[in-house]
Amino acid sequence: MNAIPTAEAAGRVTLVGAGPGAADLLTVRAVKALRRATVALVDDLVDPSVLRYLRRSARVLPVGKRGGCVSTPQAFIHRLMVAEARRGEEVVRLKGGDPFVFGRGGEEVDALREAGIVVEVVSGLTAGIAGPAAMGIPVTDRRCAPGVALVTGHAKPGGQGPDWAALARSGLTLVVYMGTERVADVVVPLLAAGLPAATPAAVVSAAHTPRQREARCTLGTLEATLQADAGLGSPAVLVIGAVAARGAQAEALSAPWPAPAAGTACSQAAG
Ligand code: SAH
Repeated sequence: MNAIPTAEAAGRVTLVGAGPGAADLLTVRAVKALRRATVALVDDLVDPSVLRYLRRSARVLPVGKRGGCVSTPQAFIHRLMVAEARRGEEVVRLKGGDPFVFGRGGEEVDALREAGIVVEVVSGLTAGIAGPAAMGIPVTDRRCAPGVALVTGHAKPGGQGPDWAALARSGLTLVVYMGTERVADVVVPLLAAGLPAATPAAVVSAAHTPRQREARCTLGTLEATLQADAGLGSPAVLVIGAVAARGAQAEALSAPWPAPAAGTACSQAAG
């Protein structure tokens, strides 16, 4: 996205998507922004390997916000970005994945623009697409998945969660972020809405990092699968739908993809 100029711009902040982990999954534009930065406000989901692109002299300010842990209040992050930008610093706000996918990037852009700061957003690979891909799962496939819904399994307290019944009927691949802590809140309404317990499901945790861990199961066995393996915990995405049965990791890593015979991929997926 291009810079959003304002009349009396007083400083500039670049929201940069750091991708799901591996430093070589950053975009070239993200690397350029990191090389320019004099200050970086860094989320705790950002893999430390990504920080190698910063100058040695850059100040790194960790502003983690992991659910359940001590976190930096959002308003404080806004004030800090505004203050640093007004001092003339070249500020990068480094966020895991894509800044505009469950990253509060929208809120941060609003706060910065209200303060008259110029904001640039550098997109990153989001975990909900790059994570499944790391285990060979395409989130859409015209043979069995006409689209994908990226949803949260952890709605804001008092806030509106996804309409699980509508999603169960949608025929879309469901990719659930922040869904491992309270997986029953995802599974129970989907089953109640008629999604079969045999629907393929998958979990990928810490995708694109050396700690990556994954499992394939079904909607009916998802909760037990997570309980059986503590390594599958946060950060992890859940994939629910026919595509979740696709691709072993060896397949994902070996290019080119084998061309399945027409019409077989989804039946393989379901079986
Ligand atoms: N903006 C991020 C999402 C932030 S919300 C993005 O676009 O990816 C945090 C959630 O993202 C985690 O709870 C988890 O569901 C997911 N996530 C982030 N990094 C991940 C990774 N490396 N592997 C699997 N899931 C990840």
